[in-house]
Amino acid sequence: MKCPTCGYEESKVVDSRTAESQDAIRRRRECLKCGTRFTTYERIEERPLMVLKSRGTTEPFDYDKLRHGIVTATVKRPINSDQIEHLIDDIVNELQGSFRYEVSSSALGDMVLKRLKNLDAVAYIRFASVYKDFQDLNGFTHELKELE
Ligand SMILES: [Zn+2]
Repeated sequence: MKCPTCGYEESKVVDSRTAESQDAIRRRRECLKCGTRFTTYERIEERPLMVLKSRGTTEPFDYDKLRHGIVTATVKRPINSDQIEHLIDDIVNELQGSFRYEVSSSALGDMVLKRLKNLDAVAYIRFASVYKDFQDLNGFTHELKELE
């Protein structure tokens, strides 16, 4: 499990607990090189959560990729890593709680947006501009209006 900050491969587990839905172990890890703390999820059951892409292909739900997208959107914003972890936990719990094993990438993006909207308007717009395909300026203006 590579450190999301420096890429170092060794980390120690600082906390483990079963996720709310009981079918995943959530581990808090600390990078042995730079000290960054990050979270991994190890699913107990065989069926992994899949993400359905817009082209019709599926790929396993990638926690690191999702975290990276959110971290990028929240750069220099007043959102700390605990809030980001909490946001991801909340989405995972919602999906697992509803026994969903497949989620479309756009639905996943909406789940993030719904939560970012409550945290920080700038991060919300940044994430939306990457995740949603704004076809024209009207789409973007509409998103901005929804913030008011
Ligand atoms: Zn590191």
